[in-house]
Amino acid sequence: MAGQESYDLIVIGAGPGGYVACVRAAQLGLKVACVEKNNRLGGVCLNVGCIPSKALLDSSEYFYLVKNRLADHGIKTGKLKLDLSAMMARKDRVVEDLTDNVRKLLEGNKVKIIHGSARLLDENTVEVQADEEASGEARRIEVRAEAVLLATGSEPVEIPSIPFDGERIVSSTEALSFGSVPEHLAIVGGGYIGLELGSVWNRLGARVTAIEMMPKIATALDGQITRSLQRILSRQGLTFRLKTKVISAEAKNEGISLKLESNEEKDEMTCDRLLVATGRRPLTRGLNIEEIGIKIDGKTGQVVVDNEYRTNIGSIYAIGDLIAGPMLAHKASAEGVAAVECIAGLAGEVNYDAIPSVIYTSPEVASVGLTEEQVKERGIEYCVGSYPFSGAGRARCMGETEGLVKVIAHGRTDRVLGVHIIGARASDMIAECALALEFGASSEDIARTIHAHPTFAEALHEAALAVQKCSIYAS
Ligand SMILES: Cc1cc2nc3c(=O)[nH]c(=O)nc-3n(C[C@H](O)[C@H](O)[C@H](O)COP(=O)(O)OP(=O)(O)OC[C@H]3O[C@@H](n4cnc5c(N)ncnc54)[C@H](O)[C@@H]3O)c2cc1C
Repeated sequence: MAGQESYDLIVIGAGPGGYVACVRAAQLGLKVACVEKNNRLGGVCLNVGCIPSKALLDSSEYFYLVKNRLADHGIKTGKLKLDLSAMMARKDRVVEDLTDNVRKLLEGNKVKIIHGSARLLDENTVEVQADEEASGEARRIEVRAEAVLLATGSEPVEIPSIPFDGERIVSSTEALSFGSVPEHLAIVGGGYIGLELGSVWNRLGARVTAIEMMPKIATALDGQITRSLQRILSRQGLTFRLKTKVISAEAKNEGISLKLESNEEKDEMTCDRLLVATGRRPLTRGLNIEEIGIKIDGKTGQVVVDNEYRTNIGSIYAIGDLIAGPMLAHKASAEGVAAVECIAGLAGEVNYDAIPSVIYTSPEVASVGLTEEQVKERGIEYCVGSYPFSGAGRARCMGETEGLVKVIAHGRTDRVLGVHIIGARASDMIAECALALEFGASSEDIARTIHAHPTFAEALHEAALAVQKCSIYAS
């Protein structure tokens, strides 16, 4: 065993939570080490999550556009051919570039990167089993620090009656790298991961069926937006089987045979690939968490923290997918910054009421704040203003007229409570809405803000005007 090294802070996990925390800690003058078990930094987000999925969504969208939409713009193309391996190679290059950038970022901030699996030995000591071939580090090292930040993220949930086989019955990780376009891809789960990957393979030619236990897809969304999304995706060719449970799956030579149950009626279905996308669970395995006495929520498996991200063990903190809240990269990063600021004695904080979320289907779906259902449930007096993209000049120029913007404001104070968008460029437009919530803006504040013409953001402007029934263009 090599000698024991000492730091102000050890961060376990180099995902968007962990690596951002490392950079912020270095900015604040802390001596930091980051332990990561994978050879590549960046966590789930960069390696098998946000980035590769968006690279494939963008590539498959181009394929779909050329195939189905360019003729309308007067552009005629010859015979179209898909080179899937080139598309995958491009995705891998994007991932590699970005993970390399994370390494440069950490090195540039003088963060010590230690490759290997971390395990807590006590409240200030971490043991790292280093992967010799990959890193050249000593096989087992011990590092000590004043504070330890757990940022080990999450892993896909496996359903016992539908075990992954890594090839035909798979999690999102493998569905990002299929070697050929499935003939029929069935997806268990109608959440955002299933919808995004279903869109990718549907655009590339697969028949896609999403099977969801609940009566609607993307259950966290505002009801009006969910209905609109399902209608649009159905028109694009995705099939939805709602209120349906997959009881079992068996991979046979001729295909995967699924047993389904819907309203107590049994049914069967076959497909050639099955993506199980029913959720993710916090990754605490191997950390020695229970032995150290760190409190875990018995129901969710999440590490329990206070409002400074401190666990019940004073020197150990946790952030990101490992703790409660939406499993999103930008939420993990915001918590990484806040936790480190708290460790450094500053007042780090995250506003959980203003975290935007996006589904990168086409059109995109983006939202921030309360849905109409939540506002009703809480008995809050409210007004709604909405406006369709078909009324926005720029959306017409681009032929992207599907969808709408919906602004929910307090009935008396006019304070914006939530904004929900389905439409092209929703992912970028939601930033203005998050800022509005963060600043406690009213719908009138958005309405009096001048929005450039012609832009998609004009639909947000009109929706804000519509809250007070002052929309200029609504008929
Ligand atoms: C297909 C897919 C698409 C997604 N798309 C989006 C999106 O578009 N936008 C979005 O906001 N979110 C998206 N997410 C979610 C996002 O990836 C996660 O919320 C985010 O990565 C969580 O960050 P984290 O830092 O908490 O953990 P992670 O990114 O999971 O990083 C944890 C790191 O810890 C390491 N680690 C674990 N245990 C140990 C150990 N014992 N020792 C050392 N290292 C360890 C892991 O190897 C990993 O690198 C997506 C997820 C998936 C699966």
